[in-house]
Amino acid sequence: MTQDTTSAAQKCIFCAIAARQAEASVVYEDETVVAFMDLNPVTPGHLLVVPRRHAVGLEDLDRATSAHVWSVGHDMARALRRSSMACEGINVMLCDGEVAFQTVFHFHLHVVPRYAGDGWTLKAETQERERALLDSDAQAIKDAIASTSR
Ligand code: AMP
Ligand code: ZN
Repeated sequence: MTQDTTSAAQKCIFCAIAARQAEASVVYEDETVVAFMDLNPVTPGHLLVVPRRHAVGLEDLDRATSAHVWSVGHDMARALRRSSMACEGINVMLCDGEVAFQTVFHFHLHVVPRYAGDGWTLKAETQERERALLDSDAQAIKDAIASTSR
């Protein structure tokens, strides 16, 4: 870790939870990740999956850890589905960056159980995008894929 990352980690609530130095209702843990209940749940059962090692966002997380976080998120979603909480659906959400609503700057996956009439809405104004623009968007991303080391 760089010096900046080390000092961020020292002040980070999710690092403290991963180290079991802060209170949390843990549902699963292994050597790479911890999953625990969100303190301000959108719906009952809302939980977070976090890597133990401090990382802010997608750009800071190595592929193996990321794959494991998403895989455990899948397991947690299945557990919620099968639990006595009897949810009817699941949203899995990642907020990467302040503009994307990230407020805790330690990578975390939200697993949010959904219940009919739970009142949570995701509202977006959308309109169909011209094919030429979709194609140029796709090209920009393809260029990035080609130049991204994996
Ligand atoms: P985000 O907006 O994606 O950064 O979400 C951060 C989430 O962390 C919010 O849903 C908070 O309710 C949750 N949170 C913040 N502090 C704690 C904590 N000490 N224990 C559990 N969840 C927390
Ligand atoms: Zn942290």
